[in-house]
Amino acid sequence: METSDILNHLGEERESYFDAVTPPLMQSSNFHFPTIQAMREALKDEFGVHFYTRGNNPTVEILRKKVAALEGAEDALIFGSGSAAIAAAVMNSVNNGDHVVCVKKPYSWTDKLLNKLLVNYGIETTMIDGNEIENFERALKANTKLIIIESPNSVTFELQDIKAVADLAKSKGIATMIDNSYCTPLYQKPIEMGIDIVVHSASKFINGHSDVVAGVLCSGAKRIENIFHNEFMTLGGIISPNDAWLMIRGLRTLPIRLDRSTDSTEKVVAYLENHPKVIHINYPFSKKYNPQYNLAQKQMKRGGAMFSFKLDIENLEQADTFCNSLNCFLMACSWGGYESLIFPTSALYSSQNYGNTTQPFNLVRMYIGLEDPELLIKDLEQALEKI
Ligand SMILES: *Cc1c(COP(=O)(O)O)cnc(C)c1O
Repeated sequence: METSDILNHLGEERESYFDAVTPPLMQSSNFHFPTIQAMREALKDEFGVHFYTRGNNPTVEILRKKVAALEGAEDALIFGSGSAAIAAAVMNSVNNGDHVVCVKKPYSWTDKLLNKLLVNYGIETTMIDGNEIENFERALKANTKLIIIESPNSVTFELQDIKAVADLAKSKGIATMIDNSYCTPLYQKPIEMGIDIVVHSASKFINGHSDVVAGVLCSGAKRIENIFHNEFMTLGGIISPNDAWLMIRGLRTLPIRLDRSTDSTEKVVAYLENHPKVIHINYPFSKKYNPQYNLAQKQMKRGGAMFSFKLDIENLEQADTFCNSLNCFLMACSWGGYESLIFPTSALYSSQNYGNTTQPFNLVRMYIGLEDPELLIKDLEQALEKI
């Protein structure tokens, strides 16, 4: 199905709600039955009916259909955060005594899930450098059940050869999962490349307005139904109908937002590539700096709207001066919204949860929003002059 058709029409049954153009918000926790027989029937298959909103809700369902279609998946589930989606996907794929292979430096809470929480349940994880396919082969064990990749990484932007990883896993009967938050389904289609499970932090580009925290999990129909009956219903990390409604609204403009932010990012990266105070840029489509440029070109449609770069400075104070001097970038975590952001990785240094970060003090991550790129470049210029 064509993208704009998915975003404008798929899943919307206007005749069933007064022909309203925009779907109603079904802010209801439960659904009633006219007879005990009808209720009994419904309870036989909670996956297929509206019974209670921890399972299905009509507003959430519209979103679910759209997201699955965008990703080219048979079905999807929507969660209250990306982390909830990731946890459900991983927990559904492994049991006590199983082994997981994951790329190193994944999203911080994915790291904690694997290397702290799941360790307590007898699940072992090997973290590897995902740049070479041989590293995946070497890490596999007889009890490996899941390979987790994140291509590209959202701080340092390393890539993995998605098709090669999927092919390797398939040949050994191992499930694969990718965190596709950075590219969104518009710039990278992992299911077409053979990946089994695609997860997103929908708090980023998919919602896109910095007003909802949500996650999505896309996969085959059978796996989705299994996750629904187990991790989804049991852990209960659902999205509220209200947030799902906001996400449907945010999703309408995903292609426009993503392209605009990416166009501007290309301009900003080109400016920084030629700036004497910038010594390195991590951006998938930077021909000058990315050693995996060819792989990025092969599996990503465009480079996306975030990058990190190293300043040519001596000390942390200079990095702080640079960050404090920017006027058009908000200093905040997250990304994928309308507003440009700066996240100095040195902010992690004193945090308990992120305290073991190995990022250098001069590395700064930048997300480019919907502002005029010339305005952003001027702002960068004056801040770089101060260091
Ligand atoms: C933000 C993020 C997550 C976690 O998603 P939440 O919605 O914050 O729980 C996972 N992966 C990546 C790459 C992210 O940027």
